[in-house]
Amino acid sequence: MNVTVQKFGGTSVSDERSRHRVLHHIVRERETGRGLVVVVSAMGRRGDPYATDTLLDLVRTNGNALSDREKDLLLSCGEIISAAALTSLLNAEGIPAVALTGGQAGIITDARFGSARILEVRPTAIQPLLDDGKVVVVAGFQGRTEEGEITTLGRGGSDTSAAALGAALNAAVIDIFTDVDGILTADPRIVKDARQLPVVSYEEISNMASNGAKVIHPRAVEIAMKAGVPVRVRSTFSDGEGTLVTYSESARSRPGWTDRTVTGLAHFLGVTQISVESDQGASDLQLQVFRAMAMNGISVDLINVMPSGVHYTVKDQDADKAASLLRDLGFRPKIRPGCAKVSVIGGGMNGEPGVMAKIVEALTSRQITILQSADSNTTIWVLVSEHDMAPALEALHAAFGLHLAAQ
Ligand code: ADP
Ligand code: ASP
Ligand code: MG
Repeated sequence: MNVTVQKFGGTSVSDERSRHRVLHHIVRERETGRGLVVVVSAMGRRGDPYATDTLLDLVRTNGNALSDREKDLLLSCGEIISAAALTSLLNAEGIPAVALTGGQAGIITDARFGSARILEVRPTAIQPLLDDGKVVVVAGFQGRTEEGEITTLGRGGSDTSAAALGAALNAAVIDIFTDVDGILTADPRIVKDARQLPVVSYEEISNMASNGAKVIHPRAVEIAMKAGVPVRVRSTFSDGEGTLVTYSESARSRPGWTDRTVTGLAHFLGVTQISVESDQGASDLQLQVFRAMAMNGISVDLINVMPSGVHYTVKDQDADKAASLLRDLGFRPKIRPGCAKVSVIGGGMNGEPGVMAKIVEALTSRQITILQSADSNTTIWVLVSEHDMAPALEALHAAFGLHLAAQ
């Protein structure tokens, strides 16, 4: 059977008015005659009664004493409530619908509570319901282990649920409905003239998502790409077409594609820069530093290794531990908390001269200090102080003409 998977994020199901917009999209999609699986997130944002962060706050007051297993039990309730609430609205409108937990929908994961990986999707319960003409409403962000334990997939994981179900059902399309019009050239909360991209490749958005563009979860992109299912990122609150995500070759032949050096910008806050210098140029400094980080489970990023020492970054929450490990080894590390990693992303920058010069010019002309940088074929990263992040994103957005329709 031809199937569409629609996913609605937290703000799309937060209140009566938005759930009626969801209803509108479901009704429209049913007119195509395809089977319909609808994945929902927990309703609303922190402060709303059943939102994920509200549920987390419920136990935070007890000093975080709850184990990860029980925390997953608690968090899974947000999406289950949301699935039941939407199903009730659909039934009230005369649309046959059934709500399923992630586990009931056949999402089987490993037992890493809080960030479980999907091992397999067994859509055996979904298929007969679709054949029966029912809308299958699935609680996102969760699965179950083979032993029946409830797990969650990591923050933003309802996208992953939708992609996994889309792949398992060989869906015609996975529609990610959210509170923006599609994938934009930067986070519109920060860059006001960020522009919607009509079509992007899996690689481009994968790169943006893994560098912090939270419009879609990177794992969801990975799963959809592997299965070759097209994704559309679109707004619950309009009837716009949104952004189509597909293979690069196919994306290039679509209307709205533009050959571009830079596709977009992304950012991460909460980064600490660590610098360790050696007076004598000790050859095993590098080894000692990175071995200490690895043995203590601290993941490192933006690594520059030089004869005189090393610069790298860690997440702010790992900074104190990293600093004390380095001091125990006899080093005197320089610790700079409160940094942001800004990423300039574009498949077209490979081999294109002048991209770094443009970045440096854009930032230095606004007196923004580049604390560190690194690059790959498709991305240039710059580390800046957190208070420089928004001006840096705006400067880079303007420098690469990302607000213009054709570059
Ligand atoms: P949902 O609850 O629907 O999953 P999220 O808050 O997880 O929504 O993701 C949507 C948000 O992603 C937008 O409100 C926007 O601020 C942010 N965002 C970050 N980068 C981008 C980008 N490049 N394009 C669009 N939105 C982005
Ligand atoms: N409700 C979960 C979260 O807030 C999952 C999601 O929204 O995708 O992270
Ligand atoms: Mg999300």
